[in-house]
Amino acid sequence: MKISNVTTRFSDYEQVASCKNDEADYQGFIAIHNTILGPALGGTRFWRYESDAAAIEDVLRLARGMTYKNALAGIPFGGGKAIVLARNGATNREGLFRAHGKFVETFGGKYVTAEDVGMGTSDMEYVRMETRHVAGLKGQSGDPSPGTAKGVFRAIAAAAKKRWGSEELTGRRVAIQGCGHVGYYLACYLRRAGAALIVADLCPEKVQRIVYEFQATAVSPDWIHSAQADIFAPCALGGSINDLTVPQLKTEIVVGAANNQLLEERHGDALWERGILYVPDYAANAGGVINLCRELLGWEASYAALKVDDIYSTVTNIFRIADAEGISTHRAADRLAEEQLGART
Ligand code: NAD
Repeated sequence: MKISNVTTRFSDYEQVASCKNDEADYQGFIAIHNTILGPALGGTRFWRYESDAAAIEDVLRLARGMTYKNALAGIPFGGGKAIVLARNGATNREGLFRAHGKFVETFGGKYVTAEDVGMGTSDMEYVRMETRHVAGLKGQSGDPSPGTAKGVFRAIAAAAKKRWGSEELTGRRVAIQGCGHVGYYLACYLRRAGAALIVADLCPEKVQRIVYEFQATAVSPDWIHSAQADIFAPCALGGSINDLTVPQLKTEIVVGAANNQLLEERHGDALWERGILYVPDYAANAGGVINLCRELLGWEASYAALKVDDIYSTVTNIFRIADAEGISTHRAADRLAEEQLGART
């Protein structure tokens, strides 16, 4: 196992490290953005990247987002994130994720991991074999995705109330990009609330499951952002709000689970200028980390559920600030999170 610090052009990260373990065909990155509020908490993403530089760029953005998410959610954790590179032929998940657990352990608790894109609870069990600084385990708080989906659903209700004067979703059309863990549970909540669903994923089996269970309409992943719908819910990877997609959006609201939905900050302003109500991703998708507090802080399930429900008030507060200050919602959310962080510096 060879660990080295990564030098970045960003000075506001506490630590960024990479680790290689040739025996396990493992390469991973961990970025700790900020621990003012507590140990850095953020998931591990298992994904393919074009280059190491692209993976580092992603882990940095994701770690920073976790600082803001945890601050806004009012939980005593800082922001960090990990990436494990998915490579062709890396089929030994136990070896891979145990190697990752060893890397996490070297941070001595300064970084606490959980699952993110490409991982499942059984992978977390492998991580757990090598470190106790992991949450979202089977038999404890488990998969964070249902909690995340519930929080996104509450954020959708707050946005609907703001835009249409009512939380009622019966007959509203929601386009969900990404039918993975969160996309699936979100579809379930929305369908129960009477919404009609349009869905897309790179994986046809995941699309079929939602089409079959929730009578959704499937469209191509290339067109989901421009579907004729009321709400666009990005639940795949980051960057789905960009120069190409902003002009093509037909929805009045954008709110979803994906981290870093805005490719660049200016795309949040572009949504605002188009009059599209955007719920900042890290405000909407905090349900998963809130749920992890059951395991990490001993919260009762009922208390965690109340805190997830409270995402509605956080989002409403962001809208209030944006209106009062005449700024876009993503800037209002940043301001709110920075106030939380500033209060502790
Ligand atoms: P997942 O891996 O289970 O699902 C992601 C899905 O997106 C996959 O099915 C993948 O095939 C699909 N996808 C990728 N690119 C796509 C594209 N261009 N078009 C359509 N589909 C595409 O991941 P998840 O746990 O459901 O997380 C989804 C998003 O929400 C991620 O950005 C993640 O970081 C974020 N998030 C997840 C949680 C959680 O609790 N799981 C919490 C907070 C944020």
